[in-house]
Amino acid sequence: MVEESLPPLREVIESHGLNAKKSLGQHFLLDLNITRKIVRQLPIQEDDSVIEIGPGPGGLTRALLETGCQLTVIERDKRCIEALANLNNYFDDKLTIVEGDALGADEASLIKKHGNEQDAWLVSNLPYNISTELLIKWLKASPRWWRGMALMFQKEVADRISAVHGNKTYGRLSVISQSVCEVSKGFDLPARAFTPPPKVDSTVLVFAPKVDIPCDILALEKITAAAFSQRRKMLRTSLNAVLGDRTVSILEDAQLESTLRAEQVSVSQYQQVTRIFCSLKEQ
Ligand code: SAM
Repeated sequence: MVEESLPPLREVIESHGLNAKKSLGQHFLLDLNITRKIVRQLPIQEDDSVIEIGPGPGGLTRALLETGCQLTVIERDKRCIEALANLNNYFDDKLTIVEGDALGADEASLIKKHGNEQDAWLVSNLPYNISTELLIKWLKASPRWWRGMALMFQKEVADRISAVHGNKTYGRLSVISQSVCEVSKGFDLPARAFTPPPKVDSTVLVFAPKVDIPCDILALEKITAAAFSQRRKMLRTSLNAVLGDRTVSILEDAQLESTLRAEQVSVSQYQQVTRIFCSLKEQ
């Protein structure tokens, strides 16, 4: 077993002085049973292209490499880059380490350069302070370069992503995520599973992209941003900033009362509003 010949993660953390930085959202997973369970959420096969964001000391990275995949990791912390460098000695040079900010990364080019022909799987125990920003970036990616994602979020954020209309946590993130993907829950993890433990529990979500995207996602994002930024206001007021003087007629065409509030509108109703809005723009 490769794992038995690798230095234990705690030793890697100590020898590279990887004291966790709050500013980088560093909460490490050191238990290989947990990291393997994250990897099992996706049907990753040998030689598949995989991208991991924020490998840190490499716990999840090791579990991913065990599948025999072609792995590219993007990490901002230089100390971690050095700590990961020797993994290629154990895993047949299947790891590409990229130092940089995942928010600005061009993942599609990275896969082209280091992966194989197919789209990549995306796996991450996300830095919690930029988790929603990264998710939105990937959901909006066009053309899409990923074929499925298994991502660890703070439980409260995972609840927002999975929420349905009428729920207090329902919002822009729910509508966009559920429009692009079938979202399912992998499993919950208590805060004590991480080193150091965060303040809250976490949840792994699995995102399977829909074959047919129901509407223009950029327009959907604008419409939901307008609706939910004033969630107490009626749609005829909150959507005015995007739909302008056509707001009421678009809502009518979508068979929606203009007096509804943002959280009362379902995902498919937002998609319908977006489709009507886009068809009018094209005329
Ligand atoms: N994957 C490791 C694990 O599970 O133990 C570490 C996960 S930790 C929650 C988040 C990781 O993301 C850290 O290693 C951190 O340095 C890295 N990170 C934070 N901001 C980043 C950014 N903008 N781009 C790339 N990596 C980032």
